[in-house]
Amino acid sequence: MTDLSLQTKLVSLPAHKDQHGASVPPLYQSTTFRQTSLDEDAAQAYDYTRSGNPTRTIVQQQVARLYGVDSDQVFAVSSGMTALDVILRSLVLNSSSGGASAPPPTVIAGDDLYGGTQRLLTFLGGRAHARALHADTSDFDRFVAVFDAQPRVDCVVLESPTNPICKVADLPRLTAFVKQRNKDCLIVVDNTMMSGLNANPLDFQCDVVYESATKYLNGHHDIMAGVIITRNRALAQQVYFIVNSTGCGLSPLESWLLVRGLKTLGVRLYQQQHNAMVLAHWLESSCGFRRTPQNKALVTRYVGLRSHPQFQLHRSFNRGPGAVLSFETGSFEHSKRLVTSKRLRIWAVTVSFGCVNSLISMPCKMSHAAIDPKLRKQREFPEDIVRLCCGIENIADLQHDLLAAMIDADIVECQDNGKTIFNKLNGLRGPNTTGKGALPNIYDEFFGAHLASTESQVVRAPKL
Ligand SMILES: *Cc1c(COP(=O)(O)O)cnc(C)c1O
Repeated sequence: MTDLSLQTKLVSLPAHKDQHGASVPPLYQSTTFRQTSLDEDAAQAYDYTRSGNPTRTIVQQQVARLYGVDSDQVFAVSSGMTALDVILRSLVLNSSSGGASAPPPTVIAGDDLYGGTQRLLTFLGGRAHARALHADTSDFDRFVAVFDAQPRVDCVVLESPTNPICKVADLPRLTAFVKQRNKDCLIVVDNTMMSGLNANPLDFQCDVVYESATKYLNGHHDIMAGVIITRNRALAQQVYFIVNSTGCGLSPLESWLLVRGLKTLGVRLYQQQHNAMVLAHWLESSCGFRRTPQNKALVTRYVGLRSHPQFQLHRSFNRGPGAVLSFETGSFEHSKRLVTSKRLRIWAVTVSFGCVNSLISMPCKMSHAAIDPKLRKQREFPEDIVRLCCGIENIADLQHDLLAAMIDADIVECQDNGKTIFNKLNGLRGPNTTGKGALPNIYDEFFGAHLASTESQVVRAPKL
C-alpha cells in the first residue's frame, strides 16, 4: 500500500486499545498511575504525568507522523517558548565542558526573529549563559562572514520566513554550510511559520525542529503548546531529561485538544493559504500596495507573490506559502487608523497567527513592541507595517471588511461605481476584484458548464 498522506495521518490516529472501543483516545486526566508490580523488569509505561502521560503520548505520536520520525523523538511541551528554552538548556548551554572558566557557548540567530526568541536570547546573553549574536540569515554571504569571524559556534537558530517582514533564509544551503564547517554545531529551526505540513527541516541538515503549536498545529487559539522534534534518539534523551526534570510536558487536557486540532490542520491550512493568496494578490494589484519607480513606500510582502524577491527560493524547500502576509502604507498614521478602524468586523486586532479566525495587527505596537525602537530602526523594521494572518472565513467577507476599513482610514476610495479602487497614498488605480476569489460552489466545481462534458473527478485549482 502506498504511504498515507500527511493529511490522512493527522485525521486517522494510530490504533489504540480501549476497553470500550472509544473512537477518540480518552483524556487521561490523572497525575499518577497505579503500579502492579515493584519488579524493575515489569516497569510500566506510566507512573507520574511529569514523566509521561498516555494522552501526551498520542499527540507526540501524531507530531512524529507529521515529521516522519519515531514518537520517542518528539516532545509536546507547554509553549513554543518552552520548546526553545528546553532545547537550549538541554543541548546548548551545557556544551562548554571546560568548567566554570570556559567561555559561554556561542549562538547565532537571525536578526528578524520572533520577539520572544529575541527576549530569551538577550536574557541568556545578559547572564553570560550564552553569547548570542545576530545575523541577517536571508543574506548567505553575510551569515558566512559572521559565522567565520567566531572562534567557535555552538548553535545556530534559524527561522524562515520571518514574520512580519517575510524574509526567507535558504535553510538547505545554510545548514549544509554550518555542518561542513563544524558538524558539532547544533542547528535548530523554528518551523512555526510553516508548520510540519509545509516544511520539514529534518529533510535538510537540521538537528532539532520546534514549533509553537499554539499557532497552526492547534489552530483555534484555545491552548498554548510547543513541540520539539529531534533528528535522533541521542538528542531526544537529553531533551527528555529536562522535560522530565522540570515538568514542562504538555498537560493531558491540552494534549487532547491538540490531537483534535491536528486532525483539521490539512483543511485549515489549505483554506488559510488560499485566503492569503487571494488577499495578497488583491492588495498588490487592486489596492495599489506595490512599489513603483516613483514611490517605493507602499508594498505587499508575502512569499506567495511572484513579486517577492525570494519567491522561487521559498518554493524550492516549502510546500506552501503560509497564511501570514503584511503590507506597508508608507504612513504610520494611516496604518494606525486602519488597524483601529471601527469598520473592522471580522479582522480581530490580535497578536499571534495560525488561528481559524483572521487577525490584523500593527507589529511595532503589538507583537514586536518588546524590541527596542532603536534596534527596530537599526534592523530597518518598518513602523507602518500592517500584518494580516488569514483564517478560514469566506474570502469575499474578508476583503469587504478590509476594504471598508481602508476607506475609513482614508487610504483608498472606490471609483467608477465601485469598479475601480484608487489608492490615495500613491495614486495607483486597479480593478476592484473584491468578492471574486470565493472558493467555487462544490456543484459548480464538478458540474459547471465547462466541465459538464468531462464530469471531471479532479478538483481544479480554485481560481484566485
Ligand atoms: C508564537 C511563536 C513562538 C512562541 O510560541 P508560544 O507558543 O507563544 O510560546 C515562537 N516562534 C514563532 C515564530 C512564533 O510565532
